[in-house]
Amino acid sequence: MTATGTADSLDKVASEVLICDKCRLSETRKQAVPGEGSKAASVMFVGEAPGEQEDVQGRPFVGAAGKLLTELLQSIGLRRDDVYITNIVKCRPPNNRPPRKDESAACRPYLDRQISLLRPKVICPMGNSAIHALIDSEQSVTTLHGIPFEVESITYFPMYHPAAALYTFSLRGVMEEDFRKLRALLDSLAT
Ligand code: URA
Ligand code: SF4
Repeated sequence: MTATGTADSLDKVASEVLICDKCRLSETRKQAVPGEGSKAASVMFVGEAPGEQEDVQGRPFVGAAGKLLTELLQSIGLRRDDVYITNIVKCRPPNNRPPRKDESAACRPYLDRQISLLRPKVICPMGNSAIHALIDSEQSVTTLHGIPFEVESITYFPMYHPAAALYTFSLRGVMEEDFRKLRALLDSLAT
């Protein structure tokens, strides 16, 4: 329960994010991007930060990388509506620069609340920035991708960021294979 006595919810997190000014990214964003998807999703995808299209539309992963993510989901029989998609920081950094430490820290409570409200079985951090925000490891995505490991009853399944596969074509097949592994993981966790 919060101080006002209302139970926390994903909608409440989203409404707070939309008007948040806890870091400097609020000064340059067009719209904050809280995240979207099923409130009963068993898998959550986490990217780094909204890009240009996301900032315009207020929705996560709707540009070129998002198109690839949507296709990879479809390849394992999932629609965007079946999963939950969000980012480490909810507002676009100017010129898509990486989020700064203080910005990620200021935004972190929103992601933590989303995780505890959704209680996903699997969290897929995509790319080094999301992976290192969520997983205590010195290793990079090159080593960690496609290998599940459990922390406090949540299974983390690191993946390449779909934008990486747009720049490096050979990663497309690697991502397709990781999504097949994710399908098998989800099937093994289904009750
Ligand atoms: N890249 C990200 O990390 N997140 C988005 O929402 C879009 C592109
Ligand atoms: Fe608030 Fe996060 Fe946006 Fe910063 S990035 S203004 S902390 S919602």
